[in-house]
Amino acid sequence: MKRQKDRHQQIVEEKMRRSPRYRQAYRKTLEKIDRAFVRQAYQDLKSGKCFPCGRRKKSGQSLCKSCYFSLPPKTRNALYKPEGYVAAYHLALLEIDCQKRSKQRAR
Ligand SMILES: [Zn+2]
Repeated sequence: MKRQKDRHQQIVEEKMRRSPRYRQAYRKTLEKIDRAFVRQAYQDLKSGKCFPCGRRKKSGQSLCKSCYFSLPPKTRNALYKPEGYVAAYHLALLEIDCQKRSKQRAR
């Protein structure tokens, strides 16, 4: 629904304001959202393996517990809404990826 879409948009815009790196990454990955990603999102949901980390997860859950709880609450909640699921999952993957990178930089 429109309102949910707007909310997702708000989260993204807030992040974009805060981080130029996120802005860049978001633009780049947005270009890559296509049918293949939509397919992958639902395959990952059914799969028993967490896509970002490769650990086991329950089929029907987007991510393993460790990845899931590394996300901010807003992103977590968005994963429960069937509306805009693909976009929410995409955002989650992006955030996990950003976290990984900042950990690597910190080393
Ligand atoms: Zn995981």
